[in-house]
Amino acid sequence: MSKVEQKRKEGSFHGDRRRVSRVVVIGAGNVGATYAYALLISGLVSEIVVLDRDEARLRGHVMDLNHGVSFVRPVIVRAGDYEDCREADLIVITAGAAQKVGETRLDLVHRNVGIFKEIIPQIMATGTNAPFLIATNPVDVMTYAALKLSGLPKNRVIGSGTVLDTARFRYLLSEHCQIDPSNVHAYIIGEHGDSEVPVWSLANIAGMRFSEYCPVCGKNCGPLRKQQIFEEVKNAAYEIIKGKGSTYYAIGLALVQITEAILRNEFSVLTVSSLLEGEYGINDVCLSLPSVVCREGISKRIDLKLSAEEEEQLRQSAEVIKAVCKEIDLS
Ligand code: NAD
Repeated sequence: MSKVEQKRKEGSFHGDRRRVSRVVVIGAGNVGATYAYALLISGLVSEIVVLDRDEARLRGHVMDLNHGVSFVRPVIVRAGDYEDCREADLIVITAGAAQKVGETRLDLVHRNVGIFKEIIPQIMATGTNAPFLIATNPVDVMTYAALKLSGLPKNRVIGSGTVLDTARFRYLLSEHCQIDPSNVHAYIIGEHGDSEVPVWSLANIAGMRFSEYCPVCGKNCGPLRKQQIFEEVKNAAYEIIKGKGSTYYAIGLALVQITEAILRNEFSVLTVSSLLEGEYGINDVCLSLPSVVCREGISKRIDLKLSAEEEEQLRQSAEVIKAVCKEIDLS
């Protein structure tokens, strides 16, 4: 086969172009393909390598993505193999079973741990130094599994955590208050799942706490309305899955935001999932806290001054994840 034919087979005729940054995406399902698409549009990277065990699906997505390449900044998109992880700047894992109607994220755990046991040794065998970004659910448990199975330093294994839930929270608050979401500062912390915690005590608009902002807004909402907003955030995935089978647009964008923070060494504060070591008395579990994200992964987690009730809810959330981690076999 000629070199040109080989490059075409790989998915890019321009495979010799100098590579500046490579992201390897493992799992070309709805989440992986949507992330690859959003990343392609972002212009952040010069090479996107996609892997999936379903070769037909992989080939279809790579072809489709490549047909959009002339509309965006120069980028190579190709199907690859684990060897591509060696020179990667970031490895994003989205492979795994997704929730079906009636399932919780925690129901997926055994299937997805099995998949990680297959994938992670193959990545590590390449000797890669790239940080891991995990999206597969239940994301906190899978981040913990990836950390243990890879043996990587804890700051280099990051879960997308509650970045998506935080975005949903900010969106719903912005809709409610009629304010641009970028001016609404509010976090969801803890599990990416049913035990997640809204940090109402620190939520603010224009530097004003919610309790102070409410009279300005003038809608006279009580605690019931706040609870409704949080329930909408928490149950968003169930609602979307009921409607269209799975969620992928917003998580695709959330993953691009985390990618950008890592590749551009931004030191951005994001509610990603990582291993806790004593924060709020919580140990040996991955969950989300506002964390500073940079090229090395996580440079530090920010200890928020939570209310006593929020702190207790966070500890309960940690217990929920810990109980599941105890059930999985990582040997
Ligand atoms: P999907 O079924 O569309 O895609 C999963 C892909 O993984 C498939 O293409 C499958 O072939 C591939 N795969 C499975 N085992 C593999 C292996 N051993 N090697 C390589 N590829 C393998 O599912 P989806 O909708 O893309 O969801 C993927 C995961 O992301 C699920 O666990 C889902 O729950 C999770 N998710 C997370 C968030 C979040 O906020 N973290 C949001 C949405 C979905």
